[in-house]
Amino acid sequence: MVQQLNVESFNLDHTKVKAPFVRLAGVKNGQYGDVIHKYDLRFKQPNKEHMEMPAVHSLEHLMAENIRNHSTNVVDVSPMGCQTGFYLTVINYDDYEGILDVLEKTLNDVLAAEEVPACNEVQCGWAASHSLEGAKELARQMLAKRNEWKEIFED
Ligand SMILES: [Zn+2]
Repeated sequence: MVQQLNVESFNLDHTKVKAPFVRLAGVKNGQYGDVIHKYDLRFKQPNKEHMEMPAVHSLEHLMAENIRNHSTNVVDVSPMGCQTGFYLTVINYDDYEGILDVLEKTLNDVLAAEEVPACNEVQCGWAASHSLEGAKELARQMLAKRNEWKEIFED
């Protein structure tokens, strides 16, 4: 029996999942009735594949900027340190299918992008570490498996 840890994803068996997928990773209820949903947007199979940092970084910028055109409920989109996915946090929006739709639209924006937003030393902490083509390739690969996003575990 593995000890239960504080972080939800530390209690997920990463050998049993089948990427790519979109998984509800947590729900928090605020004392004034607000509700936070956190999603695990997994692009790569854990411990088998990973995304390169410049591509992750550009995809982060592109998703962070574009996703807010599709949802006013977005709180944050952030990369995982293991470079296999992102976390998406939304407030007062409890619709898994809607999240999939918002992600699909956002990744299509990435494919259409001509530049990485805020890719300069004033607006970013490591402006030299970017790859627009890398981000587009990740978006393309994710979108190609759109029909698998709801399948989280190996059969
Ligand atoms: Zn940056």
